[in-house]
Amino acid sequence: MSAIDNLPPLREVIATHGLSARKSLGQNFLLDLNLTAKIARQAGDLSGCDVLEIGPGPGGLTRGLLAEGARRVLAIEKDSRCIPALAEVAAAYDGRLQVIEGDALEVNPLEHLTPPIRIAANLPYNVGTELLVRWLTPQEWPPFWTSLTLMFQKEVAERIVAAPGSKAYGRLAILAQWRADARIVINLPPEAFSPPPKVSSAVVHLTALPEPRYPADAATLSRVVASAFNQRRKMLRASLKGVAPDIEDRLLAAGIQPTERAEQVSLEQFCALSREIKKS
Ligand code: SAM
Repeated sequence: MSAIDNLPPLREVIATHGLSARKSLGQNFLLDLNLTAKIARQAGDLSGCDVLEIGPGPGGLTRGLLAEGARRVLAIEKDSRCIPALAEVAAAYDGRLQVIEGDALEVNPLEHLTPPIRIAANLPYNVGTELLVRWLTPQEWPPFWTSLTLMFQKEVAERIVAAPGSKAYGRLAILAQWRADARIVINLPPEAFSPPPKVSSAVVHLTALPEPRYPADAATLSRVVASAFNQRRKMLRASLKGVAPDIEDRLLAAGIQPTERAEQVSLEQFCALSREIKKS
């Protein structure tokens, strides 16, 4: 393991600060600084950007982001045991790192960040999907972030980039692909982490689109997609009955057969259907 900075290796940091991994906080740490630098590089050119990191833990990815040239990193960490370890990183990187001790679901990071903003994180699995959905459903458009570079369980990563016709295709794919270009950039086996989780992981990189991929009202699209995939095995004329009384006509007007199932319908078609429903 080669050094990316003059700080101690992560195993030493963990031993010095007593950071034994806690399952309740989703703690599976990355210890290889070459790997964390590689993940940071997938986030794009960081030099002119503020980077928001959720769950820095002992600071492996944080160090990668700083070593790769991030203008500033704002890291939000819930585990108070990690704060002294992160203070050492902040001291070594000339104040480019700001750490907030708190719950990422409750802290508003925007008070501390200046655009352009990129988000990069090895997310705690218990809050990862919730944070992603929040970032994908902003009040304003475009969103406050330029890109998201996020570690997920492989199965969740596959749901984000899924194409129609696959089992993984559903609400998450529609939300993500309507608002961003999404691709899996790194696959990681359980052994890449300490302790190793039960499942494989993958890093997904999402680049925000300047405007939604196809025109549609966000609330209508969200309602249609939720109903369609809640009963994904049913034909759309049945699963969407509650969305509009004349749903068969609306489906046909959008170029969708009422006998199709949600899994077969493309993002473009869901957007067309949302526009038809919104007309009433
Ligand atoms: N980034 C580190 C790494 O790659 O080694 C740690 C990743 S570990 C999968 C997830 C981290 O998120 C842990 O440090 C955990 O304490 C933190 N965490 C868990 N829930 C959190 C929350 N709600 N808000 C902020 N941090 C949280």
